This record gives sequence, structure tokens and C-alpha cells, in this order.
Amino acid sequence: MPGCTIARTFRAETTIPYSGREPRPDGTQNHGWLDLRGKPELVSEIKEAAGSPGFQAVLRELAAPDSIIFSSACDCTVTNIGERGPSGFHWEAGAFVVTAFVDARLNRESENHIDVAKEIWKNIAAAADWSAPMLFELTAEPLKLFFGHSDCHCLMLKALGFGHSPDQAVASMEVALQLIAGSLRELAATPTAVEGKWYLTVTCLNPGCEQQIPFEIEPAPGSDQPVWEDLPTKLSIRCPSCGITGEHHPREVRRGKALPTQ
Ligand SMILES: [Zn+2]
Repeated sequence: MPGCTIARTFRAETTIPYSGREPRPDGTQNHGWLDLRGKPELVSEIKEAAGSPGFQAVLRELAAPDSIIFSSACDCTVTNIGERGPSGFHWEAGAFVVTAFVDARLNRESENHIDVAKEIWKNIAAAADWSAPMLFELTAEPLKLFFGHSDCHCLMLKALGFGHSPDQAVASMEVALQLIAGSLRELAATPTAVEGKWYLTVTCLNPGCEQQIPFEIEPAPGSDQPVWEDLPTKLSIRCPSCGITGEHHPREVRRGKALPTQ
């Protein structure tokens, strides 16, 4: 039963960011979006992940300064699924988190989310020993809105763990979540090329600005890693936020990927 589904849906269910709601009759509550980008220390404030070390590990990786995707809505549930469970397991523990690219331009193509889903799954498959009954669902779906834009997509990461008791199911889910966290750590460290170019970001050198500036470079022919030594020693990059042009050394460049500038 170990496995992964990478899929695409066409129904928009959510927005980024989203606002909180009053508590529901059953006591659960939508707490609204907390911006964790670059602030992994804030993960302890995410109520949906309280009590799950694996879920917190996933959210910390997504919040890491070098992560190319960040977290939005998330939740965690334990359900008695009765006879529907795979291999006779009656309990399912599931955690999901909606993710999107930090570089907003990338969210316009669901194909980019599928590329990332494949990378995430590749890392999980290489690390998993499958002693725990678990499933992974990585689903690209349209967003109703992404910071006011209507033409964007997100990637839902879901880990499911199964067991003969709620505790067993949660233990399986924790294994699955730690695998996702490990995969995300590798993803952040591995540059990924889109459409034959490297899409990178650098932090604006203007101390009053410090915005992330996306830019692109051509890779050396036939190389699947950017070769830093091949880059010019100084990159003059103009910041679209403050208009100041800074001289960046290639090693200050943050790896990531983005869509070509329109
Ligand atoms: Zn700037």
C-alpha cells in the first residue's frame, strides 16, 4: 500500500492569504493565515499543528528562509474510517498543508507545482523504508485568489497514516510527515531549472528595502546545476521595489525557481 498520488484538480477551494472565522459548533476553528515566510520560530503558534512534531517539522521547513514554497491553510485530523481503510486499518490520521511559491510569478502555472510535487516525491521515495502504513497525496489546484490575483495555483501536501487504533494511525502519520520535512529540506538545497533557465532570487542590498529580487540566468549548456564559478563575479541587479541597482556577488544569490518575466 505505500505510495503517492500526484494529481491536479480544477476546483478552486481556497485563497492565500485567508482570514479566520468564529469557532464552529464542534469547537474547531479556522484561525486565519499566519505569515511564516522566513520565520520558522513562529511555527509553535500554529494551533492546527500543536501536538504533532512531524507537522511542525514540515511547517518549519516551509518557513525556512531558503524554502521556495511557503505554507498557507493547514489542518490535522484523526478519523475512524471503518471498513474503508486499506489493508484492514480502521483508523486514518491525516495532515494537509496548502503551499505556494514564494516567487509569485511561479504560481501562474500549475505545471510548476507538479514539477515540485515530483521532486518532493522523489526525495520521499529515496528515504522511506515503508514500515509504517502511509500514503502521500500531492495535489495541484487552482486558487480563488493569491494576494488579489485570480490566475494562480497552489500545491496541497497531504500525509495519511493508518493503524488499528488512533495512536497507531497518528504514529504512521508522524513517519510520513517527517519524510515530507526531510524532502522539503532537500528541495530547498537543490536548485531546479524551469524551461531551460535558472530563476533565482537575491536580497536587495538597500537596508531600507531588503526585498527579494527575482532574476534569471542562462545555464551552461548541458549542465543540470548552476555552476557558480561560471557566473560573472559581479551581478548588477536593479530592485523593482526601491529602484536601486545593487552589485551582487553570485554566491549571495539564493537558489529557487521562478517563471520568466512576462
Ligand atoms: Zn530594493
